[in-house]
Amino acid sequence: MSDKQLHPETLALHAGYRNDPTAKSVAVPIHQTTSYQFDSAEHAANLFALKEFGNIYTRIMNPTNDVLEQRLAALEGGVAALCVSSGQSAATLAILNLCSAGDNFVTSTDLYGGTWNLFANTFKQMGIEARFVDPADPESFRAATDEKTRLYFAETLPNPKLNVFPIKEVADIGRELGVPLIVDNTAAPLICRPFDHGAAVVMYSTTKYIAGHGTSVGGVIIDGGNFDWEAQGDRFPTLNKPDASYHGAVWTEAVKPLGPIAYIIRARVTLLRDIGSASSPFNAWQIIQGLETLPLRMRQHCENAEKVVAFLQSHDKVASVTYPSVQEGEAKRRAETYLKGGNGGLVGVELAGGLEAGRTFIDSLELLYHVANIGDARSLAIHPASTTHSQMTPEEQAAAGVSAGYVRLSIGIEHADDIIADIEQALAKV
Ligand code: PLP
Repeated sequence: MSDKQLHPETLALHAGYRNDPTAKSVAVPIHQTTSYQFDSAEHAANLFALKEFGNIYTRIMNPTNDVLEQRLAALEGGVAALCVSSGQSAATLAILNLCSAGDNFVTSTDLYGGTWNLFANTFKQMGIEARFVDPADPESFRAATDEKTRLYFAETLPNPKLNVFPIKEVADIGRELGVPLIVDNTAAPLICRPFDHGAAVVMYSTTKYIAGHGTSVGGVIIDGGNFDWEAQGDRFPTLNKPDASYHGAVWTEAVKPLGPIAYIIRARVTLLRDIGSASSPFNAWQIIQGLETLPLRMRQHCENAEKVVAFLQSHDKVASVTYPSVQEGEAKRRAETYLKGGNGGLVGVELAGGLEAGRTFIDSLELLYHVANIGDARSLAIHPASTTHSQMTPEEQAAAGVSAGYVRLSIGIEHADDIIADIEQALAKV
C-alpha cells in the first residue's frame, strides 16, 4: 500500500519504517552513532560527491532521524523532510535556505515571540530584512513584495489571537509573483494541511504536539515539492545557481532525477552541514514515540478545548474567550476553511479583573502547569505579557494581540471534567 492511501492514524505508526533488517526489531532502533563505516574508498568518494545516497556523519543524516523525517513527510503530504535540533533552528534554516544578505522576506505579524526576535533582530544582524505585515489583509503581502523578496512566512494558528492564517489567499499571491509560502504549522498538526492550500514548505516545532510528552526539543522542515524554483529567473540563486560550497552544484539540476527535492536537499547538505543544528538521534527517537499517538491526542485536545471554551464563556469573571470556533466574521470563515476535525488545543481567556486577576488565576491553578510551552499532553497555562512576549515593546505586544490580562491555556488530554474543575477553583480565587 502506498502512503497516499493510508490514513494519519496508520501513517503515524508505520510510515518510514517496517523492521530493522538485521535484528528484525519492530520498534524503531536508536542509532546513537556519530559516523558510519564506508564499504570502500570508492563508496566513500561517491557518498561525498552525492553520486550515491548513504550515511556519512550524524550531523548531516542519521537512520533514526530518517524514520522521523519520512513519517512527518508522509503525514503532511510532502516529498521529503529534514529534522533539526529545535523549532527555532527549523525556522532559521528554512529561511536561510533562500535568503542571503541584502534579501528580504514578508512575514505575518502574528508570530511566536521567539520567531519575532529571530526575524526582527538576528536576521537583521545578518543583513536579511523581515517585512512584517498584517495577515488580516492578504494583499499586504503583495504590497510588501519586491524583486529581493525570497519567501512569505506565517503561522497557521498563531497565539494569542488564534486567528487562522489565510493560507490559500497568500499562497496564491505568492505563486502569481513567484514567491513561496512557508507555514509554521506547530499549533495545528493534522487539523490543517498547509500543502493542500498551496504552501510550498511546512515547518514544526516538534517539541509541541508532534512529540506531546514534553521530553524533547526538536524541529522539522518539510518540502512540499510543489514549487518551481527554476521558473523564477534570478529569485532563488541558492537553489538554481552554482553552489560554491559544493563544487558548483546547481541544486535544481543536481537532484532532478531524485524528484522535486532541491530545497530540502540543499538545506541538509549545505546549511545543516555548516551550521550544525542537528537533531540528536535520541531526541528523534523520543519524538517518534510521541508521534505514534498524535492522531488520538489531537482529537482529545480539540474535544477538551471545546468543553473548556463552553465553560469559560458562561463564567461571570471571564471578559472574553478566544478560540477559532467562537470567532466571528472573516476569522470564523478562515477557521472553518482551514481547520478540519477540530480547532486545536489553545484557548485564550481575558479575565474581567485584568492584570491582577490574570496573575492570581495563574498562581491558583493546581492541576494545570504554569510553563512556557504548548502542545504537551498535560494542560498548561501562561501569562504572555510577562513571559513569552515580554521582550517585545508594548506596541509590538499590542500588534501581536497580547493584552495585560490575557492568559493562554494549552488544553491537554486529561479528563475534561478535571481540567474544568481546576479552572473553576482558580477562578473562584480571583
Ligand atoms: N513555532 C511556534 C509556533 C512555537 O510555539 C515555538 C515555541 O514555542 C517555536 C516555533 C520554537 O520552537 P522550539 O522551542 O522547538 O525551538
